[in-house]
Amino acid sequence: MENKIILYIKGDGIGPYVMDAAMKVWNAAVNRIYRDKKRIIWKEIYAGKKALEKYGDILPLETLELFKKYKIGIKGPLETPVGSGYRSLNVALRQKLDLYACIRPVKYIKGIDAPVKNPEKVDIIIFRENTEDVYAGIEWKENSEESNKIINFLKSNFNISLKKTAIGIKPISEFKTKRLMKKAIEYAIKYNRKKITIVHKGNIMKYTEGAFRNWCYEVSKDYSLELEKHQIEINDIIADNMFQQLLLNPENFDILITPNLNGDYLSDAAAAQVGGIGIIPGSNIGDDIALFEPTHGTAPGIKNPEMANPTSLILSGAMMFEYINFTQVAELIRKSLKKTVLEGFGTPDIIKDDKKVLSANKFAEKIIEYF
Ligand code: NAP
Repeated sequence: MENKIILYIKGDGIGPYVMDAAMKVWNAAVNRIYRDKKRIIWKEIYAGKKALEKYGDILPLETLELFKKYKIGIKGPLETPVGSGYRSLNVALRQKLDLYACIRPVKYIKGIDAPVKNPEKVDIIIFRENTEDVYAGIEWKENSEESNKIINFLKSNFNISLKKTAIGIKPISEFKTKRLMKKAIEYAIKYNRKKITIVHKGNIMKYTEGAFRNWCYEVSKDYSLELEKHQIEINDIIADNMFQQLLLNPENFDILITPNLNGDYLSDAAAAQVGGIGIIPGSNIGDDIALFEPTHGTAPGIKNPEMANPTSLILSGAMMFEYINFTQVAELIRKSLKKTVLEGFGTPDIIKDDKKVLSANKFAEKIIEYF
């Protein structure tokens, strides 16, 4: 028997509910494909509220060390208080483990109630930079010692006058942009995708967003022979136009590569277009560590967490199985999930027929029935 150790964090809010449902599906699929030849050993690790209770720390050193040792994990959503309390743990995990590529495939699943006329035209992969931009977390409160120091520095060195204000810094570097673009190109070659569109706001922020665009093109020149061989086109688009084009002509887009903040907005908007963030999977990939996670958060608005949709997490698991070369497991999960939804079953956010509305757990059981 070959064992593979995978770390998992249940997460907050709806996290434990969708994790229990998803794990049922993953284990059943591994068992169906590999019987007693291969098995997943799940190792629970902690971050957020649960870690605070257990270790007195929201992101214990042990969690980071275990990631460095086992290299792969999957997590439920973690809560981030707005405006006060601790900074985002999700961002901290991505930065500390240098998981620089956030990869989110957005594709319609037939049968889901989507808000646009032709959701089936959406089939895009978003490559979002994960460690820089205003997300890097370099910011200071208005009237703090730090923000006042920066204001004085700007005045005395650059003659820039700012009144009392909060300050945030937006770093975007050549190295971090180029490594993301390399990943996007390698992905396009591996998965036979035909276009990479660089999304940026370089008309306004020339030296950050504009440079992002230019550095991406520079990488594409290094790959020119391979891009030509595989007939992969590279182009670019300004971020605000991207949002309307995504609604008007989604079929014109394949892979999108974006800085952190634009990618954050864009992936939720794209997900909504095919039926909501409860269904789109996500991954955070570095050079040798990978962390898979749903696109959504803890969904505090859902009154009964047992009815939360586990699809995003289940499909994040399918991406994870593909990553560890359990390809047949990934295929089985995707195929069966599609079939279940096509038969009209699902959680209330995606299914209208009351008779076929299921809890996360029952939805998972139904998916297994359709294996
Ligand atoms: P959210 O948790 O993603 O929820 C937004 C809305 O999307 C929900 O209220 C719900 O809509 C719908 N939704 C999300 N997941 C769903 C699911 N699995 N099934 C059905 N519907 C789902 O976003 P938020 O309210 O902005 O954020 C809440 C908390 O989560 C914050 O603390 C935030 O920082 C955190 N967060 C964490 C992550 C992460 O861990 N990676 C990502 C995003 C946000 P209805 O209420 O209309 O049903």
